[in-house]
Amino acid sequence: MLPVSRAIPRIPSITNTTRHFFSQTNTMAPLSKTHKLNTGDEIPAVGLGTWQSKPGQVEKAVEAALRAGYTHIDTAYAYGNEKEVGQGIKASGVPREKIWLTTKLDNDWHKHVAEAIDTSLKNLDTPYVDLYLMHWPASLVKGNTKEVYNDWDFVDTWREMQKLVDTGKVKNIGVSNFGVKNLEKLLSAESTKIVPAVNQIELHPGNPSPHLVEYLRSKGIHASAYSPLGSSDSPLYKLNSLTKLAESKGKTVQQVLLRWGVQKGWSVLPKSVTEERIKANIDLEGWSLTDEEIAQIDEVHKENSFKVCGDDWLPVKIFFGAGDSD
Ligand code: NAP
Repeated sequence: MLPVSRAIPRIPSITNTTRHFFSQTNTMAPLSKTHKLNTGDEIPAVGLGTWQSKPGQVEKAVEAALRAGYTHIDTAYAYGNEKEVGQGIKASGVPREKIWLTTKLDNDWHKHVAEAIDTSLKNLDTPYVDLYLMHWPASLVKGNTKEVYNDWDFVDTWREMQKLVDTGKVKNIGVSNFGVKNLEKLLSAESTKIVPAVNQIELHPGNPSPHLVEYLRSKGIHASAYSPLGSSDSPLYKLNSLTKLAESKGKTVQQVLLRWGVQKGWSVLPKSVTEERIKANIDLEGWSLTDEEIAQIDEVHKENSFKVCGDDWLPVKIFFGAGDSD
């Protein structure tokens, strides 16, 4: 049996220190909820997403989010905005140790893990990240992203990522876009000594992936929800069942979607570059969804199933259908 990740240095009491800090500087109450990882660390339940934010927007969005009480920022080398994220953190004045910062290893850096993390840390202007994810289980050839290596795959990449934990450059390591099939391969590999702390996957009512979510729970891997609002031009905003439910709660559809994800035990990563939306998206305290309301949202995919991120842009298959990515 695989050991759950061993003890990794923890940042001091994120929830309490953050609450204290923001209570002195903000009127907006921060979401105090966190989810515990298999390392013992606590990941804040709401993080700001930064994918597809245009250059020049990310720094301001990150600064606004941190000032509004966010303690969690999600970025990736592939988004091309790590530098701006770092600048936004500096501009906010929030001390680095109060922030959960996630970035991701890009597909064509799989053979260059040590160099990749150094590049991201330099971009972000920080000595460590709280979570480093393998962005996709796709080891693409450096300089030719239309091909995969034939002598290297994500098991080799994970073997190298595990070495980062002892360097202090990453507090937790995890994966993203892994379905059951690829996780089974990863977890059964001889070189795998650390169970990923997190699998960041597409999760919203149009793609709730119950089978994969249950599999992750059984392995002690935290599910982090990307595209929790259904991404750009989300078809979820106009669904009668959701607009009616939101109205009855006196909340926006977006708040209902995020609260649903948090109550299901996921961390949610809504992206916005609009200050008012950034603030509203973390205003999730003081109310909740009932079990019946959760069950109602769980049903949405039966009539309105959709997926934002497929694998057809990659030269390797990632998703294998029902029961894998659901
Ligand atoms: P999302 O967060 O589900 O939706 C973002 C869209 O919703 C944007 O168009 C945003 O517009 C809009 N929006 C946000 N809050 C709103 C509100 N309160 N009212 C109305 N509209 C609102 O989509 P996402 O960016 O696809 O996913 C979120 C994050 O997950 C990403 O940014 C990224 O960090 C992560 N992600 C990871 C992966 C992966 O492979 N690991 C893949 C996809 C995403 P404005 O910005 O204009 O306000």
